[in-house]
Amino acid sequence: MSFSLWIDRRLWRIATGRSSVGEWRLSTHADAVSCGTSFVFLQWWISDMSSDERAPQSNFLPTDTRAVILVSLMVSLISAVVLAWLGQPFWCECGRWQLASWDIWSAHNSQHPVDPYTFTHVLHGILFCGFLWMIGSRFSVIVRYSTAMVAEGLWEVLENTPLVIDRYREATISLDYYGDSIANSVFDILACGLGFLVAQFLGLRWSVAVFVLVEAVLAWAIRDNLTLNVIMLVCPLESIKQWQMPP
Ligand SMILES: [Zn+2]
Repeated sequence: MSFSLWIDRRLWRIATGRSSVGEWRLSTHADAVSCGTSFVFLQWWISDMSSDERAPQSNFLPTDTRAVILVSLMVSLISAVVLAWLGQPFWCECGRWQLASWDIWSAHNSQHPVDPYTFTHVLHGILFCGFLWMIGSRFSVIVRYSTAMVAEGLWEVLENTPLVIDRYREATISLDYYGDSIANSVFDILACGLGFLVAQFLGLRWSVAVFVLVEAVLAWAIRDNLTLNVIMLVCPLESIKQWQMPP
């Protein structure tokens, strides 16, 4: 599978901590190029089998359900394999087969398939849908969907490289954060897909409304959301950090 091209030795060295930030920057360029190449293959392969491509452009759900399912499964599977290879655990250390964990201040956070942060991944999907519609409305929905899914899969992998994990732990409240479990990452990717489809179905206005609502509920419920997450990752603010401290 061409998609695996981007997993090269550089990423491995970053993952195993044998790489400096300077090297990381260099390698992200190289990774971006090889990723882009694999992506073109993936697009071609999907558009080839999708009847959606030849159908008149619709602003609704992709007509080919099989393609949606296949893309979702494929991205999930490949990401899971890469994460396993990076050494992430499959499930929460507690070993309880519980589907959801709602306490973000517990060690179970990001280890069970569903937690409050799952909703931020639904928001990723909504954002991807809007962004890709703005820049690529000439492409079919399924092509945009797979673009979003591949990007989300890449993000899930990057999120679990030591560089990003360490940055999270330094800058945010996630003091004992060692990355996500594979089960959690796979559900995050699927949540992104769900967000994309929901936004595609709802259209712009209702998608914006859902986005704002989810952000507000998350801020109220867990003192964290996508916006705060991005702020704290890019330029950490002490005041937000204090407010986010566990009660
Ligand atoms: Zn647990």
